[in-house]
Amino acid sequence: MSELVDPFGRKIHYLRLSVTDRCDLRCQYCMPEGFSDFEEPEDWLSFEEITRVVRAFAELGTHRIRITGGEPLVRKGIPELVEGLAALPGIDDLSLSTNATRLRKLAGPLHAAGIRRLNVSLDSLDPDTYRRITKGRLDKVLDGLMAAKAAGFAPIKINMVVMKGINDHEAEAMVEFCMEHGFTLRFIETMPVGDTGREASAQYIGLDVIRARLAERYTLTDGHLSGGGPARYVRVNDSPLHIGFITPMSQHFCDTCNRVRLSADGTLYLCLGQDDHYALRPLLRAGIGDAELREHIAHAISLKPERHEFREAPGKVVRFMSMTGG
Ligand code: SAM
Ligand code: SF4
Repeated sequence: MSELVDPFGRKIHYLRLSVTDRCDLRCQYCMPEGFSDFEEPEDWLSFEEITRVVRAFAELGTHRIRITGGEPLVRKGIPELVEGLAALPGIDDLSLSTNATRLRKLAGPLHAAGIRRLNVSLDSLDPDTYRRITKGRLDKVLDGLMAAKAAGFAPIKINMVVMKGINDHEAEAMVEFCMEHGFTLRFIETMPVGDTGREASAQYIGLDVIRARLAERYTLTDGHLSGGGPARYVRVNDSPLHIGFITPMSQHFCDTCNRVRLSADGTLYLCLGQDDHYALRPLLRAGIGDAELREHIAHAISLKPERHEFREAPGKVVRFMSMTGG
C-alpha cells in the first residue's frame, strides 16, 4: 500500500469530512446571521460517494476520519454513514465535531455506530453570552453534552474560541466545568476565515495571555496528550484535566500538518488557510475507477501548500469555516 506524502515530506493520514455546510447555529466567527446560500442537496456527495472516497484514502494509508460540517448532525442518517465508515478496513479512528444541539437524541446511536471521540463547541456557560455568540440555546447544548457523557464517549473535548471582551473572562469557569465533568478543554484563537472570521478577529486575543492568567490560579505542567493534532497541552494541578491551546495565529503548526478536508460537495481542500482545492465530485460522477480515484487523490496531495498565511494575507480565504469544518 502506498502512502500519501506531500511535497514538504508530510505524511497525510487524517481526513476531515464535512458532510454538510448547513448549521442550526450562527456562531459570529463562522457563519453570518441570516446566511442561507448553502450547497444544493444534489451537489452533496451521497453517503455511497463519501464512503468510496474514504475507502480510497484508507487504501492510501489514511486511518483517521473526523466528521464535521457545518453542523454534521443536521444531515439525516449520520449514524448509518458512520457504521459504513467504521466497517472500512484501515479506518481505526472515527471522531465527530459538533455543536451538541442534537446530541440528546443522537449520542447513543452515534456511539453504537462507532464514534468514540467527540469535540464539542462551547464558547460560554452563560446563556446570554452563549446566545450572543451562537444565536442558540445553552440548555440544549448542555443536555446534549450530558447525553454524550452518559453514552460513554471518551474523550469529550470542549472547544472554546476565545474572544476578547466577549468570553475571555470565562476561561476559569470553563476550566472548572471541564474538571467537574471529566472533559478535556481546548482554547482556540480566532482565525480570519471568511468575512465572519475576519470580523471576529477584531476580538482576537493571543492564548499566551489566557495561559499566563490561568497559571496564576492553577499549576500548569506541560504534558503530552496524544491527539495527533495542533493543540499543545498542559495538565492542571494534579487533576486528570488537560487543557490544549490551539494557536494558529500566534504560533502556527503547519510543519506538522497531517490532514486534508473534503467538503460536502466533494471538493478536497488542501489547507484550511489557502484556497488550493481539487474537485472530486465531477470525477466520481463521470465514473472513474478506484485506481484512478487513488491517483487523483495522490495528485491532489502533491498540490498541498506549505502553510497558511493568516497573518501575511488575512483576506485570502473567502469561504466560511462551516464549508470545511475547521
Ligand atoms: N458545527 C461543529 C462545531 O461547531 O463544532 C463543527 C464545525 S465548526 C466549523 C468546527 C470548529 O471550528 C468549531 O470548534 C468552531 O468553534 C471552529 N471555528 C469556526 N470558525 C472559526 C474561526 N473563525 N476561528 C477559529 N475557530 C473557528
Ligand atoms: Fe455552526 Fe459550528 Fe459554525 Fe458554529 S462553528 S456556526 S456550530 S458550523
